[in-house]
Amino acid sequence: MPRRTKIVATLGPASSDKATLSQMIEAGLDVVRINFSHGTAREHEQRVEMVRLLARKAGRTVGVLVDLQGPKIRIGRFEKDRIVLETGQRFMLDAECKLGNQSRVGLDYPNLPNDVHAGDTLLLDDGAIVLAVRDVKGASIHTVVEEGGELSNNKGINRKGGGLTAPALTEKDMEDIGLAARLKADFLGVSFPRSGADIEWARDLLTQAGGRSLLVAKIERAEAIAALEDIIAASDAIMVARGDLAVEVGDAAVPALQKRMIRMSREQNKLVITATQMMESMVSHPSPTRAEVSDVANAVLDGTDAVMLSAETARGKYPVQTIRAMARVCEAAEHEDAAGMDRLRAGPPHNVEEAIGRATMYTAASLKIKAVAAMTQSGKTVQFMSRMAASVPIYALSSVPETRRRVTLFRGVYPIKFKGAPDPEKALHMAEDELLKRGAVQNGDYIVLTIGEPYGKAGGTNTMKIVKVGEHRKR
Ligand code: PGA
Ligand code: MN
Repeated sequence: MPRRTKIVATLGPASSDKATLSQMIEAGLDVVRINFSHGTAREHEQRVEMVRLLARKAGRTVGVLVDLQGPKIRIGRFEKDRIVLETGQRFMLDAECKLGNQSRVGLDYPNLPNDVHAGDTLLLDDGAIVLAVRDVKGASIHTVVEEGGELSNNKGINRKGGGLTAPALTEKDMEDIGLAARLKADFLGVSFPRSGADIEWARDLLTQAGGRSLLVAKIERAEAIAALEDIIAASDAIMVARGDLAVEVGDAAVPALQKRMIRMSREQNKLVITATQMMESMVSHPSPTRAEVSDVANAVLDGTDAVMLSAETARGKYPVQTIRAMARVCEAAEHEDAAGMDRLRAGPPHNVEEAIGRATMYTAASLKIKAVAAMTQSGKTVQFMSRMAASVPIYALSSVPETRRRVTLFRGVYPIKFKGAPDPEKALHMAEDELLKRGAVQNGDYIVLTIGEPYGKAGGTNTMKIVKVGEHRKR
């Protein structure tokens, strides 16, 4: 059985040359993440082109996730690029300061002084620096340093407990949505959404720009936790964005939230990516720590669709080894997860696709079924199948390239290019041949085939058949 959990890797300077990228694809990369916080439109475009070219050469399908920068609030620059803050000293965040020094620094979000109050805690550089707000006067926030250390240009600012008013899409994000549409991104990451309405806003802009990406809501604000149900309903997928989330809600709250988020998104038939620092030590070491191995394995056991790499592949020394290590850890964890049918959702199905999807996986897991062959246009039925977490591989046979690229994120689903066939009998033969070619089945094995009938007419999957491979051709 192939690895079920998918691997998302962020591209950056360490992973933008052909040789490295080819090896990453070879090592099992399923989806690349293009981080729009860094780099130019031209660079993004070149990376996407290169990924698609190399994937085609390798005979693989690789999805593209464009990740919007979002309203990450940052300090300005320093005269000498960096300072060292002493614990106990006074320090000012001043919207009117141009170049910072030992006692003050500027802000890229001039509204911040209106959002914070005496008594608040501000966290800089992912929580490495802690500032206690004493007073706000006009454009300047007066603080005392509670946790000092080195602070360099443009580091991020979070408010403990959330509550910053910055809208989820900046001017730059709105332009970047247009670029994502032109690049035909398969997935669009929305950073710092506060509500389902933020996701609908991004979807409207994307649709106007002619884009059809699945929307990934990054859960990384304290407010997003309260609005989780609403955000998941408006999105196609969520990301457990542990970096910013840990800063806003406290690191210790994140592991339990991760489990809740994965469960909720699966229950709502949505996808979920677990992200940030999964194999962080591999930025500079060729093997992961025991804790990192456990972290990746636990995300798999929680039921995540995908695990994500950030700095490890964007600027680390061992991008290829990291993907190999991650793949190995996922596969081992999936062994223990073979009983996944207990995740079978209670309650009746809500529509035809869900009914077929559930019946298929229930049947496949209960009988000795080797594989599911799902003929699909939109991928909708296979998404329901994938939520069932049964340990039977689901092959999505589709003539639609967009659908084949989407399923790269679905746990336990593998895309197969399918040209289409004149009749359902021929379609079944072709599906069998594809599975035989991959070594997924042998003659005499049972598979479940799902298909839309009448065959060739537009419309969703409505039929499920149990077939013995090779059998019907003897007639
Ligand atoms: P980022 O998002 O890498 O874009 O910050 C992920 C996170 O915050 O964990
Ligand atoms: Mn983030």
